[in-house]
Amino acid sequence: MKKILLITLLLTTAIFAKLNIATTYNYLGEVTKAIGGNLVKVDVLANPKLDPHFITPKPSLIGKLRREDILIINGGQLEIGWLPPLLKSANNGKINSGGSGFLDVSGVVTLIDKPKNVSRAYGDVHPDGNPHFATDIHNIIPIAKLISMKLSIIDPSHKSTYEANYKSFATKMEDLTKKLKTQYQSCKGKKVVQYHELFNYALNAYGVEDIGNIEPLPGITPSSKHTLELINSMREQNVKTILQDVYHEKKTAKFIADKTGAKVSIVPQDVGAVDGADDLESFYKMVAQRICQ
Ligand SMILES: [Zn+2]
Repeated sequence: MKKILLITLLLTTAIFAKLNIATTYNYLGEVTKAIGGNLVKVDVLANPKLDPHFITPKPSLIGKLRREDILIINGGQLEIGWLPPLLKSANNGKINSGGSGFLDVSGVVTLIDKPKNVSRAYGDVHPDGNPHFATDIHNIIPIAKLISMKLSIIDPSHKSTYEANYKSFATKMEDLTKKLKTQYQSCKGKKVVQYHELFNYALNAYGVEDIGNIEPLPGITPSSKHTLELINSMREQNVKTILQDVYHEKKTAKFIADKTGAKVSIVPQDVGAVDGADDLESFYKMVAQRICQ
């Protein structure tokens, strides 16, 4: 009798065991929940209100990483400054690079802004090109497809559910892409500056021109010389919008705004970075609205 009970218990646990999945960023968590539904349990490692390049690794994350079946990362070196030591401590072969549960979604994106010289030596945090592709909605459907394929490989018994969830996610995002196209139409040809190159994929897709950045190179603190040059370029080209993120200092943007009459627009770089951008739909709408305003 005891044996039968034990077997029943084991079977039940096996049937209802969810896949444990960690994603580095919130947007990946949202996509994974949309594809996995109640078959997955998702842990997001990074706080979206902090610099995605330099997350402070909390020791509690190591325990989570030990238990995960799958780890989904952005890639393009965005996690290089904080994830490797966590993975080393967690020592979970399944989710290390090359493990069956490891997924780097940058493989489905063609990275732009590749540096002409290898400038990592000078502190450039985008040595392989721009890793902030998730701020453009055009990249989210291929990423979702990749996640759905990974979940189907790890958990083939639910392949049809993952595929169906992917299809309804893709339809929803295609509808939103159409709406955003209309929204971005109003700012085609507009010129902006950014603090960090967070929005180049969307700017390129919708014909908005980034004439310069507050950082001299990605990851490098602004210098007075560079700031004055940027102010001059903005004056010459009549640029009235500064795209600022939530996590960099805001003093420099305010100084530039005072000198040029430009407006500082706080734009979310991930789901949850700014209040009101709490899911993928509201995130993409807010990015469009704040770039175009
Ligand atoms: Zn960056």
